[in-house]
Amino acid sequence: MGVLVVGGGISGLAAARALAGDGVPVTLVEAAPRLGGKVATERVDGLVIERGPDSFLATRPAAVLLARELGLADQLVGTRDPRAVFIRHRGRLVPMPEGLGLVLPTRAMPFARTRLFSLPEKLRMAKDVVWPRILRPDDVAVGTFLRERLGSPLVERLAGPLVGGVYGTPVDELSLDAVVPTLRTAEREHRSLLFAGLADGRRMRAAIAARPAGAKGLGAFVSLAPGMDTLIGALEASLGERGVDVRTGLGVRTLVRAGTGVAARFTDGSLDRFDAVLIAAPAPVAATLLADEVPGASSALRGIPHGTSILVTLAYPRERVAHPLVGHGYLVPAAEGGAISACTWTSEKWSGRAPDDTVLLRMFVRDEGAWTSLPDEELAAAARADAERTLGISGEPLLVRVARWAGSMPRYTVGHLARVAAIDEATTAWPAVVLAGSSYRGVGLPDCISGADAAAKRVLARLGGRDGQTVEQPGAIAVG
Ligand SMILES: Cc1cc2nc3c(=O)[nH]c(=O)nc-3n(C[C@H](O)[C@H](O)[C@H](O)COP(=O)(O)OP(=O)(O)OC[C@H]3O[C@@H](n4cnc5c(N)ncnc54)[C@H](O)[C@@H]3O)c2cc1C
Repeated sequence: MGVLVVGGGISGLAAARALAGDGVPVTLVEAAPRLGGKVATERVDGLVIERGPDSFLATRPAAVLLARELGLADQLVGTRDPRAVFIRHRGRLVPMPEGLGLVLPTRAMPFARTRLFSLPEKLRMAKDVVWPRILRPDDVAVGTFLRERLGSPLVERLAGPLVGGVYGTPVDELSLDAVVPTLRTAEREHRSLLFAGLADGRRMRAAIAARPAGAKGLGAFVSLAPGMDTLIGALEASLGERGVDVRTGLGVRTLVRAGTGVAARFTDGSLDRFDAVLIAAPAPVAATLLADEVPGASSALRGIPHGTSILVTLAYPRERVAHPLVGHGYLVPAAEGGAISACTWTSEKWSGRAPDDTVLLRMFVRDEGAWTSLPDEELAAAARADAERTLGISGEPLLVRVARWAGSMPRYTVGHLARVAAIDEATTAWPAVVLAGSSYRGVGLPDCISGADAAAKRVLARLGGRDGQTVEQPGAIAVG
């Protein structure tokens, strides 16, 4: 009867490919009319517009390795120089200190010289080098921990916009152990986070040097030259070659036990039986599908909150942008106010995303307060006002696009790993069901792909009659 994979995002596609590669008959159903989930690219008037991810980390190799396996090595591209990023501070763009790791400085001098912090603020941060360890075994918010060790200005101006922005969750709610477990290790091994940051810099430079072939020389972030949906197209072709039955525009409505396997009822009313099901849709969907058969798992799944991610893309004629745009974009700390948390200068960051005479901007809406409940037109107006004021732009944009991912962006809040462990435990009550996807062990594409591979192995082990509990390491989750 084979395996049913629910969801045709990167997780479902990667899992289906892994299963079919092991000779298992696979049916993949995707509720939307197209495959890719949050990976979605639009091409219009020479512009390449990413509605979801625009890149992935090369230092976590799963995505680069998959691209290579799919024959896309020559399409991998790195970001353009200079790689400067700015922070808006009191209305002005201040360069982020060079050599900043995820939040800690990996080089001392640029941090000592930065205009982002006053001398008293820097002296407060320096106290970290003499402070004892403060972490207890329990999970804690990233913001709480960093505030205590390094002071509030670092949290508000760097950690908030960088880590909180990337994970779509305020840093004062974000789980240290799920998102940056390296900070716990850093304190344990070095006591001082500043000393740990410098040591991490040495490690990072080594990791970049050891990237898989095909990504060397490309920098930490990598994309695909024609757009991110190239990865989806290549995966779809690979599934075809491996005989996977792919059905789009068809959702799973209910799952019930059928002997040792599963009976799935689909949105077209049809019913089919499978040996196992791999649910690669977000946790709220899995919660609904498991509600009747494993209510314990369903309520554990509902414990993972999901927020809304919204991107506004704007294009302007270059001649109407006063700012020189030397770099990759700017981040906006919450204290600066407004709906926008970050703006990527896409046309400057990547080659080939816009004609030379056009500037393409990718603006992230803050997932805090009521911003994400505003209608698209108001968010587009807020994004325009932010970009036009910050970058000195005049006149109407050439193009405006709003991409809204409502209620499907997982929030890794304090206690996330305990919630995932509870879900793992509860789902053992129905061994024919395995979960994968960004809700659990990493939101970045490389983590989704390695999570999908691990889930496929678990399905194979269960079909083979073994226990199949693989040990998966929750890792830091990195997105561009
Ligand atoms: C705006 C934005 C920017 C991002 N930027 C980056 C980045 O630069 N780098 C990076 O690494 N990551 C980034 N991410 C994160 C990354 O894109 C996601 O974590 C990842 O794509 C999630 O993949 P997934 O397959 O787990 O889930 P999804 O892509 O959500 O796929 C799940 C699929 O399941 C389908 N589905 C739901 N219910 C059913 C059902 N009942 N039956 C059948 N199908 C169903 C859905 O239609 C969907 O297609 C970004 C995300 C967003 C939203």
